[in-house]
Amino acid sequence: MTKGQCHCGNIQLKIPHLTETGTSCTCSICSRYGSIWGFFTDSEVDVTIGEQGMSSYCHGDKMIEFNRCNQCGCMTHYTSTAPGPDSRVAVNYRMFPALALKQIRIRVFDGADTWQYLD
Ligand SMILES: [Zn+2]
Repeated sequence: MTKGQCHCGNIQLKIPHLTETGTSCTCSICSRYGSIWGFFTDSEVDVTIGEQGMSSYCHGDKMIEFNRCNQCGCMTHYTSTAPGPDSRVAVNYRMFPALALKQIRIRVFDGADTWQYLD
């Protein structure tokens, strides 16, 4: 079990383990957030939202929602707009201890153009 959280601790994330790689995506939204994604299924990730609550942002084809803390503004994870046990949840490894980022290989995904990994 590995734990992450937003800066103020209002949103807590628990994942079973770090993935071997994290994804830095070049698309219009991920490049702005600066997120590094770890991909899981809905049933693998435990998200706890505190009383400050969470806001979500959806764009384009509205398949996924980017979730951020209402208090500190950290963008913690994205979820499917049609969630189920097997739907994808991406956690932002930026919310995890810095050590986590040293343990994974970061891959750049060209979400802005070719939809290929650039390595
Ligand atoms: Zn927060």
